[in-house]
Amino acid sequence: MTSPPLVRAFILPGMSSTPQSDQAVSPVQALLQRLHDGEAGNTAGDVASYIPELATADPALFGICVVTAGGAVYEVGDTRQEFTIQSISKPLTFALALEAVGEEVVREHVDVEPSGEAFNSITLKPGSGIPLNPMVNAGAIATASLIQPIGFEKPIDRILHEYSIFAGRDLSIDEAVFSSEHRTGHRNRAIAYLMKNSGALDDDADVEEVVETYFRQCSTLVNCRDLATMAATLASTGVNPVTHERVAREDTVRSVLSVMASCGMYDAAGDWLYNVGLPAKSGVAGGIIAVLPGQLGIAVYSPPLDEHGNSVRGVRVCEQLSEELRLHVMSPPRRPAPPIRSLHSCVESCSRKMRREPEQHLLRDYGARVRQLELQGEISFAAGELISNTVLKDVEAVDFTVLDFSAVRSVDSLVVPILSGLVDAFEATGGQFAFCGVRHHPTFIEQISVEREALGRPPVRQFRDLDAAIEWAEDGLIENYGDFTEPDEIPLSEHGSTAGMDEARIELMAQALERREYPAGARIYSEDDDVDELLLVTRGMVNVGATDSEGDVIRIATLPAGMTLGEVAMLSGGTRIGSSEAAEDVVAWALTTAAYRQLAESDPGLITLFLENTMKMISLRVAHLRRQLVR
Ligand code: GLN
Repeated sequence: MTSPPLVRAFILPGMSSTPQSDQAVSPVQALLQRLHDGEAGNTAGDVASYIPELATADPALFGICVVTAGGAVYEVGDTRQEFTIQSISKPLTFALALEAVGEEVVREHVDVEPSGEAFNSITLKPGSGIPLNPMVNAGAIATASLIQPIGFEKPIDRILHEYSIFAGRDLSIDEAVFSSEHRTGHRNRAIAYLMKNSGALDDDADVEEVVETYFRQCSTLVNCRDLATMAATLASTGVNPVTHERVAREDTVRSVLSVMASCGMYDAAGDWLYNVGLPAKSGVAGGIIAVLPGQLGIAVYSPPLDEHGNSVRGVRVCEQLSEELRLHVMSPPRRPAPPIRSLHSCVESCSRKMRREPEQHLLRDYGARVRQLELQGEISFAAGELISNTVLKDVEAVDFTVLDFSAVRSVDSLVVPILSGLVDAFEATGGQFAFCGVRHHPTFIEQISVEREALGRPPVRQFRDLDAAIEWAEDGLIENYGDFTEPDEIPLSEHGSTAGMDEARIELMAQALERREYPAGARIYSEDDDVDELLLVTRGMVNVGATDSEGDVIRIATLPAGMTLGEVAMLSGGTRIGSSEAAEDVVAWALTTAAYRQLAESDPGLITLFLENTMKMISLRVAHLRRQLVR
């Protein structure tokens, strides 16, 4: 068995079949065009005629439209041709009823069992006498009977309003199709009277009015693009991805999609779920919608129908799209990306804080006692379980665990107790736990703090980003395993820039320098300062930062005493890389451009040594940078 190719072949043939043009053609557009070309000649099936007005439809009309959850629209063929929505109205009215009268009342009037029967079947559930599901006519008539015209003149006005938000434009009713069905729809009337008798329609429901509402909703005029937008709204948990308006609640959409999956294609529903694997709904005017939750909505319009009342070309296009793009909801490629993007220790991945030699040694020796997990994608139950397993493995060898959420898209609320429990389980072994990069997930922060407060647990330690969290873990290692005392102020002779210089030269340097003091928090250089000096830092730490697009200052590096500051800009004649600030009380020696020129003239050998030393310090900074980049 050979595995399927990663790059699907459709892109090339699809693109070559599109007309020559200077414009780049999206591969999605090309695919739809190819499917349209392939099925246009398929003339199987018959246009519905039991509603006389539908028989006038042109069997050649054929449109395909895909709208993504991101709001992108792809259309091929007759996508702006209007036709009546017919049974595709059923899931929409079901959604409206669920929100208008509540699930309990809806379920008293209609069940959610696949009937395995035709759309116009007269079967009611033995015993309760309610329709089997809201996707067959009986169920849809029962659902429509539940809509009260609150805020509107008639129920149909409220229904039409709802459909219009689903479509993102004002929809209207085809009066000719309505009267045609109103005149001939005796079977639907019969079903409604049976339901009135069995109690599936309430005592005060007027059968003629209910049936009229139902016929009108079925006669709503839509085009293929409207239907694809409606399908994409269902794919996007109820938010229209084009207008960004919320049409239905998330739980409502889940209920609607479930019924579409099991009952949407009538007596072909089982076959459809097996082959195409997408919640879907068809209408006798030739429309079909299919939904891939979270990703896209598909609509096809082509009037000729098969023996089940489903559009022949519509079924074919959905089958091929599902096959080529692996859209089947049960397909294994639906598996999310692995939640742990990388796992590092402080041996290979360090913070932007540069450490003095002895501390660097210690971090190399003990760095493995820190675990940094960069998470990604959607953190669901399975992801939470995997993260827990990874964190709790060989737990005795680890003192600090950091979970980085910067690349996480969403955190499912059901993993909140799992992650909270993980923090406690890890800390129970004597370790310390921290989250970072969670500020884009305010709901998660809220949920986990509520959870921990309810259990009487302390809040989880949080850092802005991975860099800050790693610095915390490094400081922790240094405190646990080191025994260093901070030198008060290093003499100029021990500064990195004077290595290899004799006393006379150090003295010459000292005379050329100006002593500076910066209290903790003081600004040293700004990004737009004139560059006319560099600093030899002999006491305290300096933060170098740059302002990001959100206006926050992001740390580029923290430099210890013994390093130089501002040398790159001064020696290269460029601008400051960033701004700098004293992280603690700082003492430094300034070498101005003028003093540097004078030294270069009076003792070129001194400047050669100075430049060599500066180069070595820059290379240390590059090596330090490398350990941040290579995580
Ligand atoms: N209005 C049509 C009917 O009730 C809707 C049927 C359908 O689209 N399957 O017969």
